[in-house]
Parts: sequence; structure tokens; C-alpha cells
Amino acid sequence: MNKTIFRSVLVSCIIVMVFSLAVTLAFLNSYFINIEFENLRAQTELMAQAIDQLGMSYFDSFDSSVYRITWVGSDGDVIYDTDAEQSEMENHLDRPEIQDAAQHGHGEDRRLSDTLSRETLYSAVRISDGSVVRLSVTQASVFRITVGVIPYMLVVLVLATLLCTFISRRISRRIIDPLNNLDLDNPLENETYEELSPLLVRIDNQNRQIEKQIDTIRHRQKEFNAITDNMREGMVILNSGDLIVSINASAMKLFGGGAGIIGKNILVLERSPEFMNAMKEVKEKGRSEYFFERNGFVNRLIANQIQDDNKKVLGTCILIVDETEKVLSEGMRREFSANVSHELKTPLHSILASSELLMNNLVKDEDKATFISRIHSEAEHLVTLVEDIIRLSQLDETDDFPREEVDCAAIVESVVEALQSSAESHSVTLEKDVDEISMQGVQRLFYEIVYNLTDNAIRYNREGGWVRISLHRQDGRIVLRVSDSGIGIPKEHFARIFERFYRVDPSHSRSTGGTGLGLSIVKHASQILGGGLSFESEEGEGSTFTVSFPDGRA
Ligand code: ADP
Repeated sequence: MNKTIFRSVLVSCIIVMVFSLAVTLAFLNSYFINIEFENLRAQTELMAQAIDQLGMSYFDSFDSSVYRITWVGSDGDVIYDTDAEQSEMENHLDRPEIQDAAQHGHGEDRRLSDTLSRETLYSAVRISDGSVVRLSVTQASVFRITVGVIPYMLVVLVLATLLCTFISRRISRRIIDPLNNLDLDNPLENETYEELSPLLVRIDNQNRQIEKQIDTIRHRQKEFNAITDNMREGMVILNSGDLIVSINASAMKLFGGGAGIIGKNILVLERSPEFMNAMKEVKEKGRSEYFFERNGFVNRLIANQIQDDNKKVLGTCILIVDETEKVLSEGMRREFSANVSHELKTPLHSILASSELLMNNLVKDEDKATFISRIHSEAEHLVTLVEDIIRLSQLDETDDFPREEVDCAAIVESVVEALQSSAESHSVTLEKDVDEISMQGVQRLFYEIVYNLTDNAIRYNREGGWVRISLHRQDGRIVLRVSDSGIGIPKEHFARIFERFYRVDPSHSRSTGGTGLGLSIVKHASQILGGGLSFESEEGEGSTFTVSFPDGRA
């Protein structure tokens, strides 16, 4: 704008300047010609009077190198000429100044030479006998004068142009400076051209509207951030050029991005071949999905194209979901199914083999009782196994059991009763040190915990050993302890004894009716009741299993 104003002012100045110069020249020219004609006219009048009185004798005393006198008779023939032989001169009746003088008493004319470099001014006066006296003067023409002054004019033009440039620059600056210094944040506080007021008022209104819109956007952004940052899932939003528009805390943690990551290309964060393929696929098909493992977690990445109503691609939304638990539990389920089949197969095979031998009469009469008893005990084992599997499946299915009052002491008592004969058959003494305690929980689950721990304590005991069940309030919790004087658990098995079907000594477990699921049931049931499970064990000396439940009373 500054340049445009500067150029406009400069061009205007130059046009005005050249025009003024031309007009002045023309004016001066006509002015000087007029003066010249006036002089010439006065001289002609004087000489005409003198010739009128003196006749041809006037020319005897005439001596002028400036003026030329031509005396023309009323028929147009030249009577006398100061510069040429009159007999050689043509008739002058066609000359305008002669014609005017003959008709009106006075005539004038101005004629250029062939080269345009000189011009001659003529002034003619009619005298008393009807003849005409004409005075002429030849001088440099206006054209020649103009050509002569061109160098000076050029100098003047250059100087004037410089002046114009200087003035134009100052003018344009004076116009532009107030515009450049406008405070557009506070448009109404500017004291500038009055003509700008409507514009400034509009800018002020727009400023306020923009502020409102920015406030709304900020508010929405805050809401959006609050939602996405509290998501466990990672979320990244890219624009159509794959630049990061938004990334939540989970995604930042996963990809390890820093604070200045907004606006950067997503490939700065992640360049794995799977990710690059996914980005390619999402562009081609609108969606892509794959699993990847990072920091010990299994994640599913889902990339979806974002489109507007006109199907124009606006960007991509990437969602990263932690699928670790799902994958692990799927693995565990698969392993569990395989184990169950195996566990069921062993007693079934034994039953089948024994019954086939019996059916085919291949067993001696004295051994038949042993075979039948084996079939019975394997069948019993199968029933126990199936019952344990059903229990565990129920615990897997839901942890939302209806809560009820649990009379802990009564349940311990019923477990002791149920296992008394087993204890006796293992020559183990059952002792209990139980306070009268009730809690909010699930009776069946509390029973399962006490039963399985006590059953294990009996089965993995030694002859003449003891099992002690204690139940007390302790440090604001209800603490159940089952200790035994049994074989104990070798340290290397500590980490795995709560796994399903894990046994330290499979044959011992099986021979005592174990299914390998007891401690899994205890662990699961304790979790559902909010209990903390721990144990201490010394090989050959015994074990103590402790479950501490929250005390609703505390
Ligand atoms: P099982 O039906 O084989 O007893 P559990 O899940 O109840 O299965 O126990 C897992 C394994 O932990 C057992 O096989 C056994 O080796 C060991 N175990 C459990 N309780 C005791 C205990 N009180 N003393 C010694 N070993 C134990």
C-alpha cells in the first residue's frame, strides 16, 4: 500500500509538472509573440507614416539589419523591398497580412521557414494611396527555442522529479503511518482518520465475536482434554497431513511423546512397520487394526478415518486399547480347558481299563474287590474334580454374590465336623481357637476357604501331626489362620501353588484325593470377599495360610 500511494503521488506530481511546464512554455511563447507583434506594429505604423510622407526617399536613409520593409502597391506588385530586387519578387496580393491591410487597414501574419527553425512575423499597414507598407522580422522559432531549452528542461525535470520523489515518500508515509500504528486489539481507542471509524467499529465487533468463539473453543478443548486424559485407552487425533492435533495422556505414556509433540508428524512418535502399514491401510480402506506388544502389555491399535458430511477426509483417529487382561485370560482359559481334559482323562482311563478287565473276566476272583474299589475311588475323584471345576467356574463367572451375615465361628465348626473323620484317618489332631465373629460376606465362599485350607493341612500332614484353625479380630481386620505341622512347601514352588492344577507332588495330591484346584478356589473366594491371602511354609516343618478379611465393624 505504501508503494502504491508513493507511486500514485509521484506519477501525479510528474504529470502535473510536465503539463505545467508545457502550458507555461506555450503561454510564454504566445506572450512574447504578442509583445513582438506589438513592437512590430508600432514600428510599422511609424515607418508607414514616414513612407506616406517621404515616398521612396525614405529608403535612402533607412538602415536596419533587423527589420525588412516591403512596400506593396494596391495591385500586389512590390514597389520596393529593402532586402531584394523588387522586379524579381512575385505578386504579394495572396499574402494574408497584405490582404488584411488592404481591406481593413492593418494585417498581421506569422510564417515558419521550411526547416521550422526560424519564423517570420509580418505586420502590414495600408497608407493613403492604397499601397501597403509591410515590416517583417525573422527570429528563431518557438520550436527551435524549445529544442534549445530541452537540456535545461531535462535538468529541471530531474531535479523536480527528485523533489517529487522526496515529497511523494513523505506524503505516502504520512498517510500510511497512522494505519500501520493502528491498535487493532483496541480499535475504538485509535485517533486516526475519521473515514476509518466504520471499519474500526466493525473490527471491534468482530474482535469481540472472535474472543467469544475462542472462549467456547477453549472450554470445549478443556472438556475434551478432561475426558480423553482420564481414558485408560490411548487416543491420538491426526489431521489430513498426519500431523498430531491431539494426544491424550495414555497415548503419550505409551509412545513416549514430550510436551511439544502437537503439530508434529505422527511418525516422529511411532515408526514401526506395522504402524506404517496401518497408516497406509487407513488411507486406502478407511480403517485399520492390529495388535502390538509394548512394555509387557498387549495393545490393540484401531485407526479410523474421520470424514465430514461431504466425505472429505479431515484426519485420522487412533485408539489404543489395552488388551493384556483379555489376552492373558484367553490364554489361561485355553490352558485350563486343556488341563481339565487331561485331569478327567486319567481317572476315566483307569475306570475304563479296570471295568474292561472285569467285564472280560480277566481278573482273578480274589482281586476283583481291589479293582471294584479302584473304580469307586476313581469315580469319587472324578466327582470331586467336577465339583471343584464347577465351583471355580462359578467364581470365574461372577464376583457379584449377594452379601449376607456370615457366622464365621459356626462355619469353622461345620468344617471341623466335616473333616473330622478325614483327620482321624490321617492320624491328625484338629484344634481350633475361634472367637465368636460375624461379618458381611458370602457364607458359601467363607466355607470354601476354611474347608480347602483345612483339607490341605490334613492331607499334607504327617502321622500324629496337628492342624490349628484360629479366627480373631486383629488390627481392624478379621484374621483366619490355618496352620499345620505337615510336610511344608519347598521354596521354589511358592510362586506357583495358587495356579490351577499346580501340585508340588502330583502323586501325593492324587493319592490323597486332591484335584490341584483347592488353593485356586481359596484365592478366588478371598478376592471376592476382599480378603488378603498369604502363607508361610518351611519344608518338613509345616505351613500357615492366613486370610485377613475387612471388618465391617471397624
Ligand atoms: P491339591 O488338590 O493338590 O491339594 P491345591 O491347590 O489345594 O491342590 O494345592 C496345591 C499344591 O500346594 C498341593 O498339591 C500341595 O503340593 C501344596 N500344598 C497346599 N497346601 C499345603 C499344605 N498345607 N502343606 C503342604 N503343601 C501344601
